[in-house]
Amino acid sequence: MTDNNQSDNGSLRIKAPDELTPEQFSICRLKSTEPPFTGKYVDCKSDGIYHCVCCGNALFDSKTKYDSGSGWPSFWQVLSENSVAEHADITHGMRRVEVTCKACDAHLGHVFTDGPAPTGLRYCINSAALHLQERA
Ligand SMILES: [Zn+2]
Repeated sequence: MTDNNQSDNGSLRIKAPDELTPEQFSICRLKSTEPPFTGKYVDCKSDGIYHCVCCGNALFDSKTKYDSGSGWPSFWQVLSENSVAEHADITHGMRRVEVTCKACDAHLGHVFTDGPAPTGLRYCINSAALHLQERA
């Protein structure tokens, strides 16, 4: 199956576990969560595109980032249909929707339905799973 729109992803390379920091590995591959208000992108207002720290897949635009007060970087929209996959998560006694990188299955965070207009969604994402590439 070929798709011309996939060419941008042709250079994606998934990092090996030993190329990740212990924190990145714990969150992205073991689905842990960083403590709130500790991540480097919580209060980040820089303009750019947030990528998956494991493979470089483009995930979120800073234009859709907002201050949710939750202590984690929050977005009301994903960048494209190739950005993330969503899975039902019933661990920890809660019914949540897990968000993973669509390219490499890295755990990113969760999506909730208490976000702002126009989507009403709140993508609550671990800073450690993200890499911001600032717009020139
Ligand atoms: Zn990825």
